[in-house]
Amino acid sequence: MAAERDGDGERELSFYRRLPKVELHAHLNGSISSATMKKLTAQKPCLQIQNGMTVIDKGKKRTLDECFQMFQIIYQITTRPEDILLITKDVIKEFADDGVKYLELRSTPREEKSTGTVCSGF
Ligand SMILES: [Zn+2]
Repeated sequence: MAAERDGDGERELSFYRRLPKVELHAHLNGSISSATMKKLTAQKPCLQIQNGMTVIDKGKKRTLDECFQMFQIIYQITTRPEDILLITKDVIKEFADDGVKYLELRSTPREEKSTGTVCSGF
């Protein structure tokens, strides 16, 4: 019985994934997947960031404060133009894989003195 339900769940998921969708307000830093986050943290071992610090996986809970702390870490690991390129490509691909046909992705380049990120590089 459970297996039957799981099969239905899979079919439903696949149906919803194939449905064409529009995404009108997605923030780049708020759309980074756990897979992309792993790529970024692997490139910056000196920052000693564990995956659990930057990703809320399915079923996990965080307080609002913890969510905002997470963005501070994301700013630290997305300092180079190539980091921004990587996350932008991955985010667009993942939205496309979810059936999103039109995407408004937004981001604000910010100067971050602690990491040396400057707007002019973007
Ligand atoms: Zn917004």
